[in-house]
Amino acid sequence: MSVSEPSVENLNVLTSTQSIIKEALEKLGYGTEMYELLREPLRTLTVRFPVRMDNGTVKVFTGYRAQHNDAIGPTKGGIRFHPDVTEDEVKALSLWMSIKCGIANLPYGGGKGGVICDPRDMSFREQERLARAYVRAISQLVGPTKDIPAPDVMTNSQVMAWMMDEYSRIREFDSPGFITGKPVVLGGSLGRDTSTARGVAICIREAAKHSLIKLQGSRVVVQGFGNAGSYLAKFMHDSGAKVIGISDAYGALYDERGLDIDGLLERRDSFGTVTKLFKNTITNKELLELDCDILVPAAIENQITLQNAANIKAKIVVEAANGPTTMEATRILTENGVLLVPDVLGNAGGVIVSYFEWVQNNQGYYWTEEEVSTRLEELMIRSFDTVYKTALARSIDMRLAAYMVGVRRMAEAVELRGWV
Ligand code: NAD
Repeated sequence: MSVSEPSVENLNVLTSTQSIIKEALEKLGYGTEMYELLREPLRTLTVRFPVRMDNGTVKVFTGYRAQHNDAIGPTKGGIRFHPDVTEDEVKALSLWMSIKCGIANLPYGGGKGGVICDPRDMSFREQERLARAYVRAISQLVGPTKDIPAPDVMTNSQVMAWMMDEYSRIREFDSPGFITGKPVVLGGSLGRDTSTARGVAICIREAAKHSLIKLQGSRVVVQGFGNAGSYLAKFMHDSGAKVIGISDAYGALYDERGLDIDGLLERRDSFGTVTKLFKNTITNKELLELDCDILVPAAIENQITLQNAANIKAKIVVEAANGPTTMEATRILTENGVLLVPDVLGNAGGVIVSYFEWVQNNQGYYWTEEEVSTRLEELMIRSFDTVYKTALARSIDMRLAAYMVGVRRMAEAVELRGWV
């Protein structure tokens, strides 16, 4: 592209996901009808529901639940509480979930939910009323054999516990399999809270092998210090890497000698905020451009874009967040020789152990943490291998390869059911 040409970057996560699904389907030899079916969720419900606030007033919230495709099995995906939630974002997230489940060979299609709210400004009891009201609003659409929610940004195991309790009350029987990411005492799986980060760490290890980078002593930067980012920082630190930068929504911390990750973990709050406690911070923008070996975006969408892709110095980027890198930025990173492990593979550990949790709930028989982590390791390595080999064989980047692997099973199921 010449300097005078204005670069128009597509920051709409839904349309950019649609374009890569289209490309993946074309490469697999599918026609336009398949794309027409898979480019949008089969169902998207918008709900508005009232919640009584602590001061006695009533606030009306808007939420969504999208079910991308159920040709393979029930839909599955998290619920996000965030002020920036949009219908398009929830739809895109449901498409990503389908691809993730396809890559990991799970018997699910993708789903996703979100509520426009800021739980950081809400009391504990207000969050509980919001969680319960949202479940009442979507209860017709979801269920253990229809659509199984889980945690996502700013929702955690406590929120899952309230949601499971509300659903069980509506249905009048105990329904642990309605939602995953629950506390262990309520049917949660051992190892679920660290599963996304474990999956990311496995991808980092595999990518490092291929890039001939020694993990011991390697310099790691993690954007986001919530569920995914903080555990990942801890795993990398414990495996001998040097975590030189971390961040949250308010800023970033940097120390070239390596940060005290255990100390930061102790001091972070339940929303993954820690930098407010420090004076010497840098910006998230500066953090992403730090000289390092491994960069893990673990916060939100559209963080690596045309604006900063060329300044990324990491040799490996593993996406723990959903959608942190735009398609244009993916191209620039790939051209610059960066090994980019895309979100649909990088953070699949979360849905894999969510699947294990659901299986345990259905069986009423619970596994040891070791069994969970051995099975997670097996599935992640197999998924990484399949995507990596597809990328090599087709001379394409890991993102397109991941979409080809992920969408193939769904397209097959759609055809076999006679939908297309
Ligand atoms: P979380 O709410 O626990 O933490 C989010 C972190 O990102 C916090 O530290 C927050 O301060 C930070 N953040 C928010 N806005 C930011 C901004 N503008 N700039 C920089 N940092 C910002 O969320 P999480 O569960 O860790 O999820 C993080 C990402 O990982 C999301 O994209 C989510 O969809 C994805 N993910 C999470 C899971 C999971 O199991 N938790 C599974 C798959 C994917």
